Amino acid sequence: MIRHIEIRQLEVPVREPFVAAHGTTTSREIVVVRIDTDDGHGWGECSALPDPTYSAEFAAGAFLILDEELAPRLLGYDLGPEQVTARLSMVAGNPMAKAALEMALLDASLRADDRSLAEFLGAEASHVPAGAAVGLAPLDTLLTRVESLAEAGYRRVKAKVMPGHDVAVVAALLDRFDQLEVQVDANGSFGSAHLELVGELASIGITALEQPFAARQLDLAVKLVERCRVPVVADEAAESLDAVDRLRLANALSAVSVKPARLGGVLAARAMHDKCRNADLPLTAGGMLETGLGRHALAALAALPGFTITGDVSPAARWLTDDPWPDLDMAGGLITVPTRPGIAGDPDPARLDAVTVKQGQAGRRRGN
Ligand code: MG
Repeated sequence: MIRHIEIRQLEVPVREPFVAAHGTTTSREIVVVRIDTDDGHGWGECSALPDPTYSAEFAAGAFLILDEELAPRLLGYDLGPEQVTARLSMVAGNPMAKAALEMALLDASLRADDRSLAEFLGAEASHVPAGAAVGLAPLDTLLTRVESLAEAGYRRVKAKVMPGHDVAVVAALLDRFDQLEVQVDANGSFGSAHLELVGELASIGITALEQPFAARQLDLAVKLVERCRVPVVADEAAESLDAVDRLRLANALSAVSVKPARLGGVLAARAMHDKCRNADLPLTAGGMLETGLGRHALAALAALPGFTITGDVSPAARWLTDDPWPDLDMAGGLITVPTRPGIAGDPDPARLDAVTVKQGQAGRRRGN
């Protein structure tokens, strides 16, 4: 039975602001939950960003919905992780908040069974290639950042792009780092005026082009997929299995970025993997500037065989300082797929308290 749910809003310092077409992240507000059951406990992360720019969810809003609506609907029930989505379905939307609760219950159940998440998901690989996303920045700064990533062993970077920060910048990256795999991500910032430009961007040597147009601009994506040989990756547009089906039937994508949080949890992410693999759609594992907790889940997922495009799997220490969770291990450009029971283990209690800015009352309200 679920005896207690602790909800915390954290503010984890970042090494430097991360800039994408949808906004700038200057400190990582993020919400985590701990669930205590009769069998033990587990932790889950809600990866919603500090602002409602990437999607409608944001950290402070997620804290409220978890505390007031979602956690109370689980308290006192005897539920497994696979029952969370159905139990919370009467609350509309909020997949990232719901994913946190599912992750915590999954962590608790895996720990009780002494199984790792990778084993549970059916992952076979012991290592996955590391990939780093680099935010928008002036070209000099960008080149310096990518230089240090290459020195740290990364073989792939994903550069954020937007109108005005496009072909010339990416061409400079490709020119300077000819050993590096370069992908780009526009976060839907190009429009109908940019079809030629995006076509050119796709043809200069990048290996993947993520969400060039807004999710609703299906006709533009179709035109690009027709003329483009590199994978056109749906990220923001791939919000559900149904959405991916629609895009696939319309020929509006050629690969999918899988983010467990956006889909409502790790279990939905595995279902997306299975579906896309059956349809021969290549996958990439998408990051959300997670803590070490979310990163552990992402690394386990990325070890599934359908993830054939290098994803955003990198240690959280790349952008966070004072992260309470254990981090991923990386050596020689490879991330070790975690094998510990559960997902990421426990946070450092002192660090966790130090970065906690708010704690929820959901458990106490029901008298647990
Ligand atoms: Mg993206």
